[in-house]
Amino acid sequence: MTKRTITVIPGDGIGPDIIDSALKILDKAGCDFEYEFAEAGLSALEKHGELLPQRTLDLIEKNGVTLKGPLTTPIGKGFTSINVTLRKKFNLYANLRPVISFKGTKARYENIDIITVRENTQGMYSGLGQTVSEDGCTAEAMSLVTREGAERIVTFAYELARKENRKKVTIVHKANILKSTSGLFLDVAREVSKNYPDIETAEMIVDATCMKLVMNPEEFDVIVTTNLFGDIISDLCAGLVGGLGMAPGANIGDDAALFEAVHGSAPDIAGKNLANPTSVILASIQMLEYLGMQDKAEAIRKAVSAVIEEGDRTTSDLGGTHGTTDFTQAVMDRL
Ligand code: NAD
Repeated sequence: MTKRTITVIPGDGIGPDIIDSALKILDKAGCDFEYEFAEAGLSALEKHGELLPQRTLDLIEKNGVTLKGPLTTPIGKGFTSINVTLRKKFNLYANLRPVISFKGTKARYENIDIITVRENTQGMYSGLGQTVSEDGCTAEAMSLVTREGAERIVTFAYELARKENRKKVTIVHKANILKSTSGLFLDVAREVSKNYPDIETAEMIVDATCMKLVMNPEEFDVIVTTNLFGDIISDLCAGLVGGLGMAPGANIGDDAALFEAVHGSAPDIAGKNLANPTSVILASIQMLEYLGMQDKAEAIRKAVSAVIEEGDRTTSDLGGTHGTTDFTQAVMDRL
């Protein structure tokens, strides 16, 4: 049988270290992948003079599945976010951000199991915006919501709920104020929900959702929402389970999928062997599930869970005193 080839983008800052950790663990679990390495972000800009070289785009398209480290988008005019560009270019319309409690973290809650399904290509991230006064003191941006886009993401969320035997989908919106965009999203979501009578549907305004997530997170199961709200809510959810080091994200389209940590390139700790690789390991677990390799996914999840619960060689953000390489070895020892 030919081996499955995965495109790997190590990325910037802590990216290469945490990606190395994830690949070692995938190999130790016997996943038997081939890897094709590609560059993007600041490291690509310095080497090739562009943030997203054509070869990288070609490899993402060719292999269909990509595991990616965080990328640094240089600050300043003329640089659009590489992540947003990738999501649009490959029409990765669904961003799945699961958070799950692991025993042994310093999180405030113990039984969290929430997936945020964020629309990934429209909303306030449409890229449409400009300064509209000559003195540069007035700017505007456009939020874009289409019936087709809303229908696609809400259907995705309900199908996911069904597949994972989840009980409830909460539609998060701000239709009381953003009547045209969020209003359309809510209308379409209500229509779609009628096709899923087996799943409980709730509707919630985004600000109330933030409060309720902090006070009663057990009320949530699957959340579906537009781009900006999903970005913010999923970071809030990461905070419920111990922080960004625990939060993976899958960007799924019809022809390609890209798996990554939710956090950034953490330049403050880059190259110091301090990064917690859990989020990118969890992203690789999402990748295995996407590829139908549930047994390997479960084995790695169990190993990570045991390392964190037993506090064996954990990183400082998890209360430990060890580095990325020790943590990785501790997971591999359990596989
Ligand atoms: P960040 O997520 O990189 O860091 C925020 C804080 O969390 C820092 O103190 C950092 O040390 C800590 N942290 C992050 N990941 C960690 C880990 N795995 N283990 C331990 N600590 C961790 O956010 P930032 O500083 O706002 O952004 C830095 C750069 O990352 C920016 O250039 C930004 O554009 C980019 N970024 C990229 C992505 C992505 O590629 N998906 C996402 C967000 C930010």
